[in-house]
Amino acid sequence: MFYGDYQVLQKVNLAAEAGSITCIIGPSGSGKSTLLRCLNRLAEPRGGDIRLDGRSVLDIKPDRLRRRVGMVFQHFNLFPDHTALGNVMLSLRKVKGVATGTARRIAIQRLSEVGLASRMDHRPIDLSGGQQQRVAIARALALEPELMLFDEVTSALDPELVKGVLKLMAGLGKSGMTMVVVTHEMNFARRVADQVVFMDEGRVVEVGSPDAIFGNPQSARLRRFLSEVL
Ligand code: ADP
Ligand code: MG
Repeated sequence: MFYGDYQVLQKVNLAAEAGSITCIIGPSGSGKSTLLRCLNRLAEPRGGDIRLDGRSVLDIKPDRLRRRVGMVFQHFNLFPDHTALGNVMLSLRKVKGVATGTARRIAIQRLSEVGLASRMDHRPIDLSGGQQQRVAIARALALEPELMLFDEVTSALDPELVKGVLKLMAGLGKSGMTMVVVTHEMNFARRVADQVVFMDEGRVVEVGSPDAIFGNPQSARLRRFLSEVL
């Protein structure tokens, strides 16, 4: 993956099982977001191949792909003039062409599942950061994606709000959702990941179980990174 002539990602070779949680860790600028963006074609790699359920994502139209691959960002990207309910409904109607009544029913269901049953009529400005992030997650889930991508979704939250969002994500993983999670929350990665990927300077430096990555790091770079963040 290049930005202009600058090669951001090199020789990345990864696989994630259906139903598994992959956590990507690594220093700022190591290419974590770029890798996630390649998975739903927000960024287009110049070479290589990315397969979703056996099929190259380059053969799937971006619109169609983004229905199958949900993404949640650090900054929630909600529409400020719409309520929580409106945000989820809008996405269902625009992205999937779901009729209003059905969209409302699905949106209510999803918002209830993320603990926002009593906040559906609030606009983003009247919600806490944690609640806004849960709306963003509900909005992505409403489209029934096969894969969910999370890019540092708790990094902009006040510390006391982080836990609720992580708990929601852990529950989602337990329910069988396939997830790729870029995170600085090492305890989360350690507790819930099936595999942890450590990236540095556009490369995957180590991949392994949480026990291997955190308990027995092989490379000096990972050891240094862990000593800085833990
Ligand atoms: P991370 O998410 O690990 O912090 P990124 O994927 O955002 O890393 O960035 C990887 C590298 O690509 C960094 O050197 C960054 O400066 C560069 N980069 C990211 N986005 C762009 C862009 N839109 N244009 C040019 N360079 C970019
Ligand atoms: Mg990033």
